[in-house]
Amino acid sequence: GEALWAAGLAVVRRLREAGFEAFLVGGCVRDRLLRRAVHDIDIATSALPEEVMSTFARTLPTGLQHGTVTVMENGVPFEVTTYRHETGYSDGRRPDEVTFVRDIREDLARRDFTMNAIAVGFEGETIDPFGGERDLSAGLIRCVGDADSRFGEDALRMLRAVRFAAVLDFRLALSTWRGIKRQRERLKHVAMERVAAEWDKLMASDKPDRGAALLIRSGLLANVKDPLPDTLASVKPDAIDIRWHCVKECRLSEADDIDVRWAAFLSAAGCGADEAEQLCRKLRLSSQRTKRISGVIGFDRLWSDRLMAVAGSAGKKAFDETANEQANAVQLSSLRASWVKLALRFGRSTAEDWLKMTKCRPVAYSLLAYAKDWTNEISVWKAAELAVRGDELSRSLAKAPGPWIAELLNELLELVALDRLGNDSESLLAAARAQMDGGNAS
Ligand code: ATP
Ligand code: MG
Repeated sequence: GEALWAAGLAVVRRLREAGFEAFLVGGCVRDRLLRRAVHDIDIATSALPEEVMSTFARTLPTGLQHGTVTVMENGVPFEVTTYRHETGYSDGRRPDEVTFVRDIREDLARRDFTMNAIAVGFEGETIDPFGGERDLSAGLIRCVGDADSRFGEDALRMLRAVRFAAVLDFRLALSTWRGIKRQRERLKHVAMERVAAEWDKLMASDKPDRGAALLIRSGLLANVKDPLPDTLASVKPDAIDIRWHCVKECRLSEADDIDVRWAAFLSAAGCGADEAEQLCRKLRLSSQRTKRISGVIGFDRLWSDRLMAVAGSAGKKAFDETANEQANAVQLSSLRASWVKLALRFGRSTAEDWLKMTKCRPVAYSLLAYAKDWTNEISVWKAAELAVRGDELSRSLAKAPGPWIAELLNELLELVALDRLGNDSESLLAAARAQMDGGNAS
């Protein structure tokens, strides 16, 4: 962080020596003032892109149409952008035109929030025309200028505001919050990929619960371009909505993994596996993430059903330490069998993701220690790990190959995983014969 900042100042100095103005700006200044890690450096300069390119030995023309040149110093990239202003956001998305301007203050005026509109010069001098430092120390996110018009220009800023609230654990200035509530319908102009990128950063933050609650309370979630599944879009931030209650009680930060957080959030909001999958697709999340998130939710639904079936109306409080030991033992072995079958069906990683997801729930899960043991005790996860192959079954049972082989292998797999059968060919073949006889008899 320190070295990166110093290297950024060196780039600023070079530009100054070449006769231009230059400042560190944006996120790096904000994070530096907050003593947070600085990841990348943005520099604003009076130099035109071609002038920047002739000042440094190694440059990349990354965004010439926006005035941006990437300067490479010792393999580290620095984004250097000519002072500019943006005009006429007729579609609420992208400026119609980028104009270069002469003064750093004009450049700062186009930026979204006061905390992101502070410039730092080579000697450490600060240019802060909008009270950014004051808002930073108060922990406030405030638009530069009039909130309604700034959100009208670029609706993504509303989502950035909520994301920064979660990442920095800041509050929104009242005028900014009201602006979001008035302009939220404009979010319909923003592409779903960009919505997803902000939402993902929010979920990865230190305060994902705060962020998720703000997404709902602001009404932003209900106004994205591609309508969300009804279940999610209809969560109402008021005391009588049970799903709002669940979302608020959720402790997403207890899970380290972002996709587990997504699953916990969506399931608290009442989404089933299909709805979760639909949402992930709309957000253009990768198919791997989509499968993972909806898989955990599918697992959760089925497991809750099994728990209900075994434990009756006691529901999720299935196992009662004080109840009669024998009854408990019967319940437990039946629950274990259900658990192992589900785990085999969904795969180890889904079962483990589900275990992580329970940490996000407000109530400690009484069966957690059991379910962990049950999972760790599973010695085989796939039919291929059995000591018998399909063709051997077919030969030994003198039965033509068919779909019965996969079914039988799966039954054997469950028995081995439950420690009811040894994983050697003799035991497996014997069990196969017994299973087929039983099957024929019934
Ligand atoms: P982070 O990199 O942590 O996401 P950041 O503030 O650096 O935060 P960037 O997207 O890297 O965000 O943008 C750099 C700077 O550009 C911001 O600090 C802000 O000054 C300005 N900026 C970015 N997006 C917008 C926007 N949509 N409207 C106005 N200004 C913006
Ligand atoms: Mg940045």
